[in-house]
Amino acid sequence: MRFASVLHDGRPHAVAIDGDTAIPLSGIAELGAHTPNDVLRAPPLDREAAFKLSAATLRPLVPQPGKVICVGLNYKAHIQETHRDDSDYPVLFTKFATSLTGANDPIACPPESEAVDYEGELAVVIGARARRLDPTRALEAVAGYTVANDVTMRDFQYKTHQWVQGKAWDASTPLGPELVTADEAPDPSALTLRTLVNGEVVQETTTDLMIFPVPTLLSVISQFSTLEPGDVILTGTPAGVGFRREPPLLMGDGDVAVVEIDGIGRTENRFVAEPS
Ligand code: MG
Repeated sequence: MRFASVLHDGRPHAVAIDGDTAIPLSGIAELGAHTPNDVLRAPPLDREAAFKLSAATLRPLVPQPGKVICVGLNYKAHIQETHRDDSDYPVLFTKFATSLTGANDPIACPPESEAVDYEGELAVVIGARARRLDPTRALEAVAGYTVANDVTMRDFQYKTHQWVQGKAWDASTPLGPELVTADEAPDPSALTLRTLVNGEVVQETTTDLMIFPVPTLLSVISQFSTLEPGDVILTGTPAGVGFRREPPLLMGDGDVAVVEIDGIGRTENRFVAEPS
């Protein structure tokens, strides 16, 4: 099935999606801690309250995740363009719930940054509490998959060896539009992802080229931190980020970035200059 977190008539709802129809989950305002896999497998659908999806506004797919853990440098061609060495342990960093925004929301280019960049990524939403997952069974903890744009202020990212100040700007990371449950999603290691800026393809990859595939990431992260329903993992971006292009392709007022993953979904966000 497919689910989303939306606002309709000013009220938040977790909804199941059937074509252009959104069917609220009774008593559940959003996807996250209250939508573990057993709820998603038998959702309390309030069909009487259904409405047109086109009449709703998409919120971040999981508006209040307990954790947002992101993976850096997870595609070989992207490591090469950043002139870094391979690692035998994934580069991990975090964002906050406040870093997220809806799949079609505008994204502010803050006056403090001169290097706003895009990073198309596959995102994993957790559906079950899990610690020290074995890679062979790790996908059992997954609720489903969605699309993210790990928008990054490069000049702030590289101020130090830690990246958080370049990665966690308010409302900078679109997540959505839909949660495609693991039973309905294509194989997460066989997806095609592409990023377009103003209609031109700037990133394109297949997810089999991840250095650390999804089961490995879940195993590594859950070794030190209990995964909970609603936690979100961004799995890293392929080559082609704007900062490493010649000439650089950085986001400014009016630019539109699209990230699409076949069979999963599509984010489309316009960048808007934030007044100083
Ligand atoms: Mg990234």
